[in-house]
Amino acid sequence: MDLVEFQGKQLFARNGVPVPPPGAVCRTVEEAVAAAGRILEDGASAVVVKAQVKVGGRGKAGGVKVVTSVDDARAAAEAILGLDIKGHVVHVLYLEPASDIAEEYYLSVLHDRVAKGDLIICSRQGGVDIEEVNRTDPAAVVKRQVVPSERADGLPRAVALEVVTAAQLPEEVREAAADLLVALFDAYLAEDATLTEINPLIRTPDDRVLALDAKVSLDASAAFRHDGYADWALEGVDGDDPLEARARAEGMQYVKLDGDVGVLGNGAGLVMATLDVVAQNGGRAANFLDVGGGASADSMAASLRLVLSDPAVRSVFINIFGGITRGEEVARGVLGAVEQLGDFPQRLIVRLDGTNAEEGRAILAEAAHPSIITAPTMQEAAAQAVEAARSAA
Ligand code: GDP
Ligand code: MN
Repeated sequence: MDLVEFQGKQLFARNGVPVPPPGAVCRTVEEAVAAAGRILEDGASAVVVKAQVKVGGRGKAGGVKVVTSVDDARAAAEAILGLDIKGHVVHVLYLEPASDIAEEYYLSVLHDRVAKGDLIICSRQGGVDIEEVNRTDPAAVVKRQVVPSERADGLPRAVALEVVTAAQLPEEVREAAADLLVALFDAYLAEDATLTEINPLIRTPDDRVLALDAKVSLDASAAFRHDGYADWALEGVDGDDPLEARARAEGMQYVKLDGDVGVLGNGAGLVMATLDVVAQNGGRAANFLDVGGGASADSMAASLRLVLSDPAVRSVFINIFGGITRGEEVARGVLGAVEQLGDFPQRLIVRLDGTNAEEGRAILAEAAHPSIITAPTMQEAAAQAVEAARSAA
């Protein structure tokens, strides 16, 4: 899951990475005006108004403005709210006391899939597109692999100092930058991030270093280890599909597609096969959700609620192969979910196979719920689901 800048800065701050003084999250021009007024009254000489979208290059696109008056803050907020930055429409602003910049550097820690390790990247040239710097002047971009054995107790400070020295950060800020890198690495590990990027890392006129920007991606598969993980999902932040964002926040594997048959299955392989049979029967999946191992009434209800909240869904194909979760549990899960959800117009086509499938089908047959159709095979279920979607159209 990708965080927006202000969230990334919160995550940095709680791990000891220096950031500018805290600011305010605003969704309207009036909120922004009030926040700017407070920040200026508190003694800041300027306020920076920043678009909160999950895409870089906001500065160039007009999504970052430094202002020194409430009137200018109003104009900036009016200009930035609603702005389309590379397909991401701005709905949220972050206002913070503007920082004075002496120099801009680049610093990041990221998971390197190829090397299966962590990679630190540092450059004296920051605030610009680092890939471009890497192309035109590769020597200016320092990369340092960190192997797991090396970071058992966090990043050794000697390694941090070696990196910022190799990147030729000025001597006056090297110690502070090394401390910041150790903290950034702590944040990366503690939060199960796959990316923590600071561009620019700034040197202030009084030789402090601060993360002026923050780009953080968290590993969704580690969500279970973090209590507050779902809190990072910020509704309506940008162009994300809101249901995908909700599913991610709740740790579900959900993907939005553009057809009208909702697909719910257990296991990635079965879900993929389900999409195929829907297509073979002339239908198109509206989305798919992997319910994973469990098929309790609660998890089934949460999954179904999500799939049914997609207005494009005209029927739902529930395809479960019972393994550890037995057929009767699945059947009770589906019935319990339907009860929890109350009225909904879509038909649910259920195909149950695997452990105790017959018992499960018997439970569903006995319940004879008007919204539930059971089908013995995947092929028949797909045909029924496609047909149900068609006749509901
Ligand atoms: P990005 O363009 O999406 O990467 O957004 P950034 O947060 O990196 O901001 C872009 C640029 O705006 C930075 O490189 C700075 O030059 C400038 N900027 C951002 N915040 C401030 C600030 O507090 N003070 C000043 N003077 N400039 C800022
Ligand atoms: Mn940036």
